[in-house]
Amino acid sequence: MSGLQHVELTIETVGGERLLAVAYASDRERARFERLTPGPRAGVSYGPLSARNAAAARAIRPNLAPRPIGLSTSAGTGDRLGLATPGHVDAFRDFAPTVRPIFAQQSIREMDRLGRSPQQVLDDATFGCIEAGWTGPVGADADHLKTVADIDRCLAAGFSLFTIDVGDFVEVCDEVPSDAELARLPWDELEDDLASARRRYASLRLELDSGVQTIGETQLAHAMGKYGRAVAMGARLARHLMDRATYPVEIEIAVDETDEPTTPEEHLYIATELARLGIRWVSFAPRHLGSFEKGVEFAGDRAALDDAVARHAAIARALGPYKIGMHSGSDKFSIYAGLMEHTEGLVHLKTSGTSYLVALGVLAARRPELFRRAYEASLGAYRAARASYQVSAEAGAVPAPDALADPELPGLLLAPATRQILHVGYGSVLRAPEGDGPSFLGTELLAALADHREDYRADLRTHFGRHLAPFSAVGVRS
Ligand SMILES: [Zn+2]
Repeated sequence: MSGLQHVELTIETVGGERLLAVAYASDRERARFERLTPGPRAGVSYGPLSARNAAAARAIRPNLAPRPIGLSTSAGTGDRLGLATPGHVDAFRDFAPTVRPIFAQQSIREMDRLGRSPQQVLDDATFGCIEAGWTGPVGADADHLKTVADIDRCLAAGFSLFTIDVGDFVEVCDEVPSDAELARLPWDELEDDLASARRRYASLRLELDSGVQTIGETQLAHAMGKYGRAVAMGARLARHLMDRATYPVEIEIAVDETDEPTTPEEHLYIATELARLGIRWVSFAPRHLGSFEKGVEFAGDRAALDDAVARHAAIARALGPYKIGMHSGSDKFSIYAGLMEHTEGLVHLKTSGTSYLVALGVLAARRPELFRRAYEASLGAYRAARASYQVSAEAGAVPAPDALADPELPGLLLAPATRQILHVGYGSVLRAPEGDGPSFLGTELLAALADHREDYRADLRTHFGRHLAPFSAVGVRS
């Protein structure tokens, strides 16, 4: 008899250590795992939360192996600490199957900053799913990949969504580029020339629900000058991925981390060119209109954002269909309903550092001395970290760590300026200044959080429920 569906996998704490518990496994199944030993429960074997055991678990529970999720409405949850997945699972379970989860989602920048490998990020999500009993499918997002080496690392780990970030190749151009400037685009790589491109676009008419979308000559020159190099790089990275992938993967094209918003005409140019070069993708993340600072509400003209999203989504439906990606999407509660409406559900939301902020909230209430040190470290490093994020908080205008009484500490997570400072300070809190591995403070913080694991899980469920409800037909569960 095949025992496959009867194997029981759980996470248990044995003698203070978190272990994978395996029950009802045949000898053949047990052989997939490493270092299984008997433990407190009869008939159950216990093994470490290792890469080999994560792979074995995914082999036995194929739903935990990341796979493309296609055009379903979806949301990605970053987890800098590797402890958040059970809380994320609870939130998604409330809204499944209307919002599909991507539990493992980390940018290469964050992985490197925290000294976590792509494999660790993916495995932590696998174990979190086992802990919380997730039985649905999962995706895994290798976020903000910029090189072929990044792609190879994440393919080796088993990620399913590859977010190709060509933002470094987007040119800021205030004026319409001249023919001489356009002549310097990488036409070989674009498999094209300026005259042919102009001819194609002169006759391009895209039928949308709202009317016919065209690109004028000036708009085309601007789009080529701004995004031409990014298109060439996007095609190169996407082709590398398709060449190397030995299992099904999907692609997001991202230009979200750039200064100027992506206009619908520029989106149309990027998508038309990538399609011409044979690239297929499941979502496109433009630089949206307005301010998307990490961890705080949307700032900007919401009507203008809605209008632009509607136009982007119409292009995505006509050319794909594919989804519109919304990065830095955590805590932007005011825009979710509009986003869902205008994309007609063809949307992928990414949240990243907000799970870390929920963790800090748990500690602010329960371990004030530790939280105060995390705040101090974040404040100290704020100026250095600021360069790589869209943040506007002024470090001088916020309270000093020792000026606050314990009961005032949780308030730092509510005030936008200090919330942002805590949000971007994670690297200095979690990571040792020199060498590999977590900082002393990071180790303490993880241990404290492990002591309050259930509180963290419950707070995550609530916080992510607020994110997922607007994307769900189910609505908020009472
Ligand atoms: Zn992004």
